[in-house]
Order: sequence, then C-alpha cells, then structure tokens
Amino acid sequence: MRFNYFHPTRINFGWDRINEIGKNVRRNGKMCLLVTVKPFPAMEELFKKVKKLCEESGVDIIHYEGAIPEPTDECANVGSKIALDNNVDVILGVGGGSTIDAAKAIAVGATHEGDVWDYRLGQKRIDGKKTLPIIAVPTTGGTGSEVTNMAVIKSAKDKTKSALADWSITPRIALVDPELTMTVPSHITATTGFDAFSHSFEPFININSSVFVDLYALDALKKIIKYLPIAYKDGTNKEAREALSFAATLGGLCISNVGTTLPHGVAMAIGGNTSGINHGESLAIVYPEINRWSWRDAIDKYAVVGRLFNSELEKVSNEVAAEKCCDEIESFLKDIGLWISLEDKAVSKDIFNAIINDTLKLRNYSLHPKLANFDDISYLIEKSYKKE
Ligand code: NAD
Repeated sequence: MRFNYFHPTRINFGWDRINEIGKNVRRNGKMCLLVTVKPFPAMEELFKKVKKLCEESGVDIIHYEGAIPEPTDECANVGSKIALDNNVDVILGVGGGSTIDAAKAIAVGATHEGDVWDYRLGQKRIDGKKTLPIIAVPTTGGTGSEVTNMAVIKSAKDKTKSALADWSITPRIALVDPELTMTVPSHITATTGFDAFSHSFEPFININSSVFVDLYALDALKKIIKYLPIAYKDGTNKEAREALSFAATLGGLCISNVGTTLPHGVAMAIGGNTSGINHGESLAIVYPEINRWSWRDAIDKYAVVGRLFNSELEKVSNEVAAEKCCDEIESFLKDIGLWISLEDKAVSKDIFNAIINDTLKLRNYSLHPKLANFDDISYLIEKSYKKE
C-alpha cells in the first residue's frame, strides 16, 4: 500500500453543535465577517441565532448577506472589501456550498491584491500565510465544502466556472449540525445529496484513488444510497439527515485528497456556461451517459458500487455487476427526481462547443478511468441532450 492523506480541519459533528459556534469563532479572532445569502424564512432565525451566539462569546459581527447560489467573483470581491475595510480577523460562512465557497474566496480576496478571479486554478498563487481563517457551518448535506481546499466560483464576466484551490482556504473548523439541513426542500435535498454521491463515487473510480480515501468513499456511498431517497421523500427524517450530513463531509474529505473526474469537469463547464442549472442537476444530467461510456475501463470499481446498490449482484461476475451499476445509478436518479436532460433545462446546442472546451481546461477529465477527447465529450453531451 502507498498513499498520502492530509487534513487540516477540526470537524465538530452532531445535533445542536450550532450552540458552540460562538466560542469556536472567538478562538480564531474577535472581528468576524459572517457570510450568508440574503435572509429568507427558512434561514432567517439561524442567522440571528449565530449572530447572538457569537456576540455572547465576545465576537464583533459584521454580516455580509451578499453570497449567492453558484457564487461569482463579483459577490466575493464586494465581501472582500468589507472584510478589509473592517479589519476582520476571521470569516464565518453559514449556508450551503455556495455560501461557504464565497466565504473562502473572501478570505483570499481580503488579503491578496486584485480580483479573487485572478487566483483561480493555474493563475496567481495564493499566499497561504495571508489567507484569513475560515469557519464553515454547512446547511446542506452536499458539497463537503466545509472540509475542502477549494472554492468554486464563477466569473460574472467570462461565464466560466473555476476554483480557488489551496490548503489555506480549507476551513479551520467545520461545525456540522444535521439539524440545520432539516429545512432543505426536497429537490435541493436531491441535488445536494447527489453531489455528495459524486464526491465519493468519482474519487473511488479516479485513476489516483487511494485505499485510505476508499474507506470514506464506500461508507459515504452506502449511506447516500440508503438515505437519500428517504430524505428526498421525507425531509423530517432525522436519521436520514444525519447520515447525509456525515456522508457529505466524508465526500469533502475524499475530493480534497483524491479529486473528482470527468462528470465534475463537464458539470462545472455546464454550470459556467448556463444559468439556472444547479451543480447537482448538471451532474445528474451527465452521469448516465458517462457511466455507460466508461464502466468497461473500471470494471472492478463499478462492480463494487453496483453491489452496494444491490447485494444480489454478489452472485454475478464483476463485468455483469459493473454494467448493472449503470442501471442502478439511473434508477437512483429516477427515484430522487433527477432524471433530467440538457433539453429539459433549455440548454441551447449553440453552447456545446464552449462546454467541451471548458471541460478540457479543467484537470478532472484527465483523472477519469477512460480518457476523453473533444469528440468523446461532444458525443457524451449530445447523448445527454434528451432522455427517454
Ligand atoms: P447552495 O449553497 O447553492 O444552496 C442551494 C439553495 O438552497 C440556495 O438557494 C440556498 O439558499 C438554499 N439553502 C441552503 N441551505 C438551506 C436550508 N437549510 N434550508 C433551506 N434552503 C437552504 O447549494 P450547494 O449544493 O450546497 O452548493 C453548490 C455550490 O457549491 C456550487 O457552486 C458548487 O459548484 C459548489 N461546490 C463546491 C465544492 C467545494 O469543495 N468547495 C464542492 C462541490 C460543489
């Protein structure tokens, strides 16, 4: 065996852990920028509670309500200026992956020259010593951003999605309280939960997979396969919410150490070139065809996942189980209301070339068990245009 594993985040997981937020923030600074989306009924009380708990622990809070779903460089730049102008010591992101990513980008933007977009992958280097400490409180069971070393952002101008990536933007503390996910509506439960599925599945099939990360990935997959359809149908099921929050955090640990593959590359490119399609939807759109195209190049891995879905597949060969895994993932998507296509989301074929080119700009595709070229991605996108 040979593997590397590293993680710098303290994870405080469990029901009611939100009550500990004040002292955790105070340990990292006095002046705190709380980053959230604009308050709305499901979250308003939570934001007030977090502010009160922080203030009771002696923290001065400035509340930036400017995070948006699929956050842009613009919203991070505005937050960065507020943090800089107020000499903020610590950034606290409370929300879904979009909010936590905005908080991470602000931790960089407030301490580095220029636009946060300049620090995306392959561009200017993030100086880890300067980045402000980040505390993350997820309210979706999805991205695992509370423990990842990435912040996905979209350029408001270039219509491209990319990421800031550096260990310094990994939150110091992830306070994961499943209670906070109880208000997530059914469709968002499905899309965020499927994102978590992909964060375990893709590191598992990744050509650089690791025996250590596989432990997390397989446990997370088991939980998501069992509990996501339950939480999708009944958001009040606490056992399901807890399992999904845990699985999402495990998925974040997987992608921080191994990374995702082709579906994420294409999904990011779809997210960059369109509006109104969330990340989990983009993944759901492309998964079926990518699986059908690549399972033969990772038969043993697909067979393992197939058997997590259906223990009857223990009785058949790996090859049969691997092909059946594709059927199982498709049924799973149908069960959680994510049998969707590019056509359903009104994506014009005119942007297909941009999606393909952007997929090839990201590294993810090169880690997939079957290496795709321009024509392969074109074929996969065409096939994902319409679903029966
Ligand atoms: P999100 O943060 O965009 O939230 C989706 C919607 O649900 C929003 O309208 C939000 O306000 C709402 N919401 C959040 N919590 C809620 C709650 N408890 N109750 C009711 N409504 C709630 O969704 P997400 O899937 O968590 O994050 C998606 C973003 O994360 C994308 O930009 C994606 O690219 C990115 N991402 C980041 C990483 C990473 O490692 N940084 C990994 C995967 C995805």
